[in-house]
Amino acid sequence: MPFLIRQITETMHNMQPETLVTTLGRRPDREQGAVNPPVHHASTILFKTLADLEAAEAGRYAHSTYGRYGTEGHRLLEQALAELEGGSHTLLCGSGASAVSLVLLALLQQGDHVLMVDAVYSPTRDLCQRMLRHYGVETTYYDPLITPEELQTLIRPETRILMVESPGSLTFEVQDVPGLAAAAHAQDVLVVADNTWATPLHFSPFEKGVDISVHAATKYICGHSDVMMGAVVTRNEKLHRTLFKTYKVLGPCAAPDDVYLAQRGLRTLAVRLQQHERSALQLAEWLQQQPEVLEVRHPALESCPGHAFWKRDFSGSCGLFAFSVQPVAREALAAMLDHMRLFKMGYSWGGYESLILPFDPQPIRSATEPAADRQWLRLHAGLEHVDDLLEDLQAGFARLRAYG
Ligand SMILES: *Cc1c(COP(=O)(O)O)cnc(C)c1O
Repeated sequence: MPFLIRQITETMHNMQPETLVTTLGRRPDREQGAVNPPVHHASTILFKTLADLEAAEAGRYAHSTYGRYGTEGHRLLEQALAELEGGSHTLLCGSGASAVSLVLLALLQQGDHVLMVDAVYSPTRDLCQRMLRHYGVETTYYDPLITPEELQTLIRPETRILMVESPGSLTFEVQDVPGLAAAAHAQDVLVVADNTWATPLHFSPFEKGVDISVHAATKYICGHSDVMMGAVVTRNEKLHRTLFKTYKVLGPCAAPDDVYLAQRGLRTLAVRLQQHERSALQLAEWLQQQPEVLEVRHPALESCPGHAFWKRDFSGSCGLFAFSVQPVAREALAAMLDHMRLFKMGYSWGGYESLILPFDPQPIRSATEPAADRQWLRLHAGLEHVDDLLEDLQAGFARLRAYG
């Protein structure tokens, strides 16, 4: 099988995140001294000997066998991400959504049941409601703040997967992942986490009972708003092999140039995150003091649902959080948003630039009812100077006020 992870010669587990992201998945000694890995554009991979070809066919060839399974650059990034999370294997996909689909399609069959967090990324919900339902897989949505005891009552003999996303990327409820994972494992249910918000640096999924960690690497790992990528990390070879069988037939492999850009993004992940985190906290604190603001949803604030779990289980936060204001006329909202100088409207997040997005959680919930009497907005604090970001927000609030 082409996904053997090479043993790293020295153990680096006791090193700090800044060191790990700059060190893992690089081998200048094998690249004529070049600091960064090569990019191999390949469909066909040639075998030198009949023995090599036979080894490939028997799944015993140590290198890539075909472009659809990625090449050397993929192996290095896979290894880096696996090591960062304390896992053993990674599969790289062409988007975060394809990474999520890969996992659910690989592990579920007709008659199976999934427990899905109600705050899940909405295309993941669509996957369950459309494809999986048509394939005879049933999904039950649960409150992100459910206790392990309550979760137990939802587990059925046919429940195969518990999916968590902590915090949710719109409403930011933090989940009791270790508690829920223990309840799931007691009934042989696999735990899948969408770990995009925390990145591999701020939440260690395997230590917290997760079996499969999924990332939209599009966000902070790539970090420059120019690449779509997903990653599926496991620490169990058997599970990896199961996922790989589906990876082979769906063909969601990430492209070599994108893998290179993701590698490059990874090198600065730790320092970028520190700045995103610092700015977002400052903006969140400012927002808390504005009279129009009803609530700030930032996992590091005590007022955030599940904050105690964030404090217990995470080593940091990032630039993404939400807040809500009293209901406003559409024109007032447009006056605020259309003239922002730095906070631009757009999907995705995790790049160097700041973003603002109005959203309505109501249509994408079924087990819980987020407050409807308000306007929700999500912010991504980019790498601009926080004083400029604050000024932009202040001016936006002034335009909102001028309307009321
Ligand atoms: C963006 C995102 C995804 C999907 O990633 P894409 O690369 O856009 O397909 C999945 N989960 C979360 C939490 C996300 O924010």
